[in-house]
Amino acid sequence: MPSLHAAQVSIVRCCKWLERAGERLTGAIGPFFVGLAVLLMATGCLSFFVIIGPTLSMPLLSLPLCVLIATNMFAHYYFVCTVPPGTPDDGVGLGEGQGLFWASKRHNGGISFPDYIAADGERRFCMKCERPKPERAHHCRICKTCVLKYDHHCPVRINQCVGIRNERHFILFMFYLVLASGSFVALGFEHIFIAFDSSDIEKWPSQYIPRYVFIVIYILSAALGFAVGIMLAWQLHLISSAETTVEHSDFDNYRRNAKHRQETFVNSYDLGRTRNLSLFFNLENYSLYTLLLPLRCAPYTDGFTWARRAGYQRHQGVRPGDELTDEDD
Ligand SMILES: [Zn+2]
Ligand SMILES: [Zn+2]
Repeated sequence: MPSLHAAQVSIVRCCKWLERAGERLTGAIGPFFVGLAVLLMATGCLSFFVIIGPTLSMPLLSLPLCVLIATNMFAHYYFVCTVPPGTPDDGVGLGEGQGLFWASKRHNGGISFPDYIAADGERRFCMKCERPKPERAHHCRICKTCVLKYDHHCPVRINQCVGIRNERHFILFMFYLVLASGSFVALGFEHIFIAFDSSDIEKWPSQYIPRYVFIVIYILSAALGFAVGIMLAWQLHLISSAETTVEHSDFDNYRRNAKHRQETFVNSYDLGRTRNLSLFFNLENYSLYTLLLPLRCAPYTDGFTWARRAGYQRHQGVRPGDELTDEDD
């Protein structure tokens, strides 16, 4: 049925064209979303410190804590939007820098993996960049480059890819956004009733933050805090399983194929939940307090080599031909 085949090809082409057009559109309006996010976060912080701040108990303790949460939220948002995700062009190196915002490494830090090995013999090649593609790197069509430890392209929130160099900021930004939104909702609970009570105008404490602004920010905090909280929980689950978002769907396929052959798929990056989290946040080299401050930390690896389970040079249960590439993404 050649005509049916031609129709199928046309439909697939049309879908691809629509997908590409959608990507171009989201790429173009990405800066608008970033601007909107900054505006909402700034209005939220202002509303919090003007309306809720003066009523907090133990202000000497609670106010600095709230300032720290807000600073972390803005700083990690700034870093995740401006720190490049890492590409093979960056060259080998951890991308560490020096300066005020860089955390200092622990003296007794460092990784000594008996199982810390370089990418194995699987030669991957990016047809679009026309050069070798490191292990765990994927090509991003919107950024038009391969990204080291590609997780996903985030057009709405950060307008760039999440990769090896900015993934820590991505997670910490979501964490502090959820914490800030939750604090706003919990501590502003009494104020939202006053905001809705238009019978007594004198009751509203500020002329600079109108009641309706407070109501909108309160509802957005509840909705966005809840939605981002679910995303954060999912991302932390992936991190503790040593999978990126893109690998998660690939590994599901490998698991199914292996099960079909009555074999078991083993993710060779998976060193156990605690160790996976420690590697992600690079607590091998940096102290735990770096999670509490708006600081930059280098990843544990250069993005070309990866820690693996002892005895594994590659994932178990994946046969040649099973491997999924991102050429068709
Ligand atoms: Zn590429
Ligand atoms: Zn991208």
